[in-house]
Amino acid sequence: PDVETFNCRQALEQLSSNIFELLRTAGTVGDELNQNVYVVGGFVRDLMLKTDNWDIDFVTEGDGIVFAKALHQAVGGKLTVHPQFETAVIRLSSHITLDVVTARREYYEYPAALPKVEKSNIWSDLFRRDFTINCMAISLNQSSFGDLSDYFGGMKDLQNKSIRVLYNLSFIEDPTRIFRAIRFAARLGFHLEASTRQFLQQALQNDMIRRLSHDRIREEFLHMIREQESLHNSMTLMRELGIFQALHSGFIVQSHTLERLKGIRFAMEGFRQLSPSSFNQTVVMLMQIMSEVLPTDLEEVCQILIANQTLIQQMMKSMNQRDTIYLILREDEVDRFTIYQLLRAHTEEALMFFYNDSDDPYIRHYIAFYLLKLRHIQLTISGNDLKSLGINPGPIYRRILDNVLKAKVLGTIYDHDGELKYAENLYNRLKEALHA
Ligand code: ATP
Repeated sequence: PDVETFNCRQALEQLSSNIFELLRTAGTVGDELNQNVYVVGGFVRDLMLKTDNWDIDFVTEGDGIVFAKALHQAVGGKLTVHPQFETAVIRLSSHITLDVVTARREYYEYPAALPKVEKSNIWSDLFRRDFTINCMAISLNQSSFGDLSDYFGGMKDLQNKSIRVLYNLSFIEDPTRIFRAIRFAARLGFHLEASTRQFLQQALQNDMIRRLSHDRIREEFLHMIREQESLHNSMTLMRELGIFQALHSGFIVQSHTLERLKGIRFAMEGFRQLSPSSFNQTVVMLMQIMSEVLPTDLEEVCQILIANQTLIQQMMKSMNQRDTIYLILREDEVDRFTIYQLLRAHTEEALMFFYNDSDDPYIRHYIAFYLLKLRHIQLTISGNDLKSLGINPGPIYRRILDNVLKAKVLGTIYDHDGELKYAENLYNRLKEALHA
């Protein structure tokens, strides 16, 4: 936005009519309750950037819950109230959410603690926030509709593409802001303002990140990874600032990884179009980001980023077998069954990771072939069919079924009848061999 000419009221009027009406209604409800009501934070930032934002944050000077209940009466949706935090949420539709908070001041009893809260006015409510670009409010009451409160120079920072904290100790008080600063810089293509960068680095030197619980780190990290379009930017900045090493001294991320992150979305999209799959993209990206961590550090790094223990074990197994897999698949003549056996123990996410991570065209070709073709091959016969053929149950069943599967993967047989005949022949041959 141009600081000189930007007109908030006009920008509001240019929003889609349902959002504009919603803001009007919020102002009228505030007037009726004799409360000042503002729309704040990300919504205001994105309004100035002309980006849609369907998460609308309201701040009221007065009881936010009373306001939220009255607004809910007026606009409908599903209301959830959190009396202990004096906040409420109205979910209007699948994509429009209204958050209401009572204007509050926050203070920290010690660094990296969760904040203590007390009722306050809009200035203090904006002052507790993270960056100047997220610290603006627009009044909604009728007499002041569209008036901007920009106490900390947020619009100017938007114009200069700057991420700036409000005070020196901001990152020390809440180190999750380190991740938020990177996420916004990466998403918007902004830079960290010089002193903000220094404050961030001081917080890192004081090891503030390690004071955060794994849960809080994980939440921020995953938030970043889900913003796929800016993932390469955010991870580059994370590396540049030394955040990976601050999280764990063995969390090595090199330029190879950053390069690989560039193509990962397209690789995944390509596979999704070729073959219906439901793989978890976040897992693929996590594997790629951790791809250079040494096996001795891998479990500890995983524990920081991932809560699900089964998933950690699965990922570690695949990452530890990666070199062996690459070694075998680097050959130019690998038979189908070797590929099948080698890859079937791995999840779709791990296979996508191997595909994206490897530089070798043979490896990529074999993995793509497995993902698109071989992994769908399954036997249609089972032990019951062998029983019908008059074969007595025992360890021989496994042997026969394994061999039928092998023949099917190799393309010797392809349908149910073929499987049955192959099983029968094999059994007869085994029987003859036994008698001979
Ligand atoms: P997004 O577009 O990612 O939703 P947002 O700015 O709406 O961005 P939220 O995480 O929804 O981000 O937070 C809403 C507002 O709350 C922010 O604009 C910011 O003012 C404030 N906020 C959120 N987290 C913090 C924090 N850790 N410290 C200070 N203020 C915060």
